[in-house]
Amino acid sequence: MLKRILSGESCAECRLCCVFDRYDVWETPVFTEQLCRRIAAQKPEVRFVPKDGGYILRVESFDEEGLFRCPALTPTGCMLGDDKPFDCRIWPYRIMNVGGRRAITIASICEELYSRPLSQLVGLLKDGLAADIFAYADSHPEIVKPYYEGYPVLMFEPEKRYI
Ligand code: SF4
Repeated sequence: MLKRILSGESCAECRLCCVFDRYDVWETPVFTEQLCRRIAAQKPEVRFVPKDGGYILRVESFDEEGLFRCPALTPTGCMLGDDKPFDCRIWPYRIMNVGGRRAITIASICEELYSRPLSQLVGLLKDGLAADIFAYADSHPEIVKPYYEGYPVLMFEPEKRYI
């Protein structure tokens, strides 16, 4: 969904968004039941926890570097390909509940996008990405995360007007 401003090559070289430490483990993606089944078919040891209609990974331990790698991550990339969770398709954009209102924020840890001009980051949202994110969140509220300090808000959801 971000192909217009983020190349697949940049992501393939980085994969930072697929590895978590104990401070950002809350950032692990929300999976649909179908994706859980696909992962479990190849990695039956993986456990999921229900979350508001979706599923998140049960993180039980970290490796010797203090990291947790998403079990869908393989040496050649995400085993889910283009079917990866919506959370992953929009990262580093996030949708969060900011004081009771949905808003799109950005994770500063993605250096590639965080270094772009604000006009480019917001421009992509205005060009349809924001509408897609809010629409997806309407049917999958589980992807809306509580606001996390340090995530700049790029756009609040427009107020709905009823005439
Ligand atoms: S599902 Fe795929 S893209 Fe998402 S965090 Fe896991 S490996 Fe990365």
